[in-house]
Amino acid sequence: MVLVTELTRMLGIKHPIVQGGMQWVGVPALAAAVAAAGGLGILTALTQPSPDALRVAIKETHKLMNGRPGRFGVNITLLPSITPPDYAGYVKAAMDEGIDVFETAGNNPGPIIKLIQTYKAPGQATVPKRYIIHKCTAVRHALSAQKMGVDCLSIDGFECAGHPGEDDIGGLVLLARAAEELGIPFISSGGIANGRGLAASLALGAQGVNMGTRFMATVESPIHENIKEKIVASNEKDTVHIFRTLKNTARVFKNKVSTEVVALEKRPYGAKFEDLRDLVSGARGKVVYENGDPDYGIWSAGIAVGLIHDIPTCEVLCDRMVKEAEDVINRLDTKIAKAKL
Ligand code: NAD
Repeated sequence: MVLVTELTRMLGIKHPIVQGGMQWVGVPALAAAVAAAGGLGILTALTQPSPDALRVAIKETHKLMNGRPGRFGVNITLLPSITPPDYAGYVKAAMDEGIDVFETAGNNPGPIIKLIQTYKAPGQATVPKRYIIHKCTAVRHALSAQKMGVDCLSIDGFECAGHPGEDDIGGLVLLARAAEELGIPFISSGGIANGRGLAASLALGAQGVNMGTRFMATVESPIHENIKEKIVASNEKDTVHIFRTLKNTARVFKNKVSTEVVALEKRPYGAKFEDLRDLVSGARGKVVYENGDPDYGIWSAGIAVGLIHDIPTCEVLCDRMVKEAEDVINRLDTKIAKAKL
């Protein structure tokens, strides 16, 4: 079963499925598994403690591919951070290792996009073609990234895990608006976890999908089994927004810590980031994935948790989604054909 789209043609991948760049989750084991399954695997740059560690992770991912066909890229997310990262250093390290697909996201991406488009790695006489998929949550940001010359946009609806922006536009309208305005390919992100979501995305004009939360609950995902099972047991009401009052909104799993953060933000005098720092730090959230205690810290999850009912391998998941999407498309086609008779 194959669905050929502008995304699969552009990147030479089998399935129109991109793995989201999840903090602490986008590690070599998962990126290689998604790549080998025919999707685009993504290594999350900031999950590595330094640009040099990212180089090691890229080498490890190649090793795990073990000669199998497949493609992976690197995510770089530009958002407020407790310790501001060396974004340019990470991106240069990736390009030095031959990475030619990037998922960029976050605020003020212009300088990083320019760097990816113009950098000559040591030994390169000319700048090689590198593909940039820029993730954004508003059509105006998508248009501005299009002007910067990115190759594809990842249109992130309000359903998404992590940072949905501040406009609160769900995928159904956001994707249809993207289709009206954009002149380059785009994929859908946020709320996608099965073949219905893939078929709906294609119907809305997208050339594929980006999934984060769905890939967290896979065999090859590096997170603790308890958290995978927690995702399977959850429904679409089990996430919450933190940082609304700081204009850095993030959708995360509803647990003791996120509930406390929201309560602090709701105080009549609100909360400053400093009041929340110890509760929300990524270092603490990482422990959730290591010790399997879903209440230990903040961890990202989209409302797609309500659509996740098992823990398949990435290969089973990708093949199944494409088959389901094709079934949906064929069923609609048959119904429409019958209605015309
Ligand atoms: P961190 O420990 O630096 O910060 C924890 C959370 O607090 C993050 O959501 C961050 O955006 C937010 N934050 C930090 N400083 C802030 C401030 N001054 N005002 C408002 N909010 C603030 O984050 P981390 O978990 O180590 O992640 C590092 C970076 O990667 C962060 O910018 C984070 O947002 C981003 N991120 C990336 C992905 C991804 O998919 N690549 C996913 C989630 C988060």
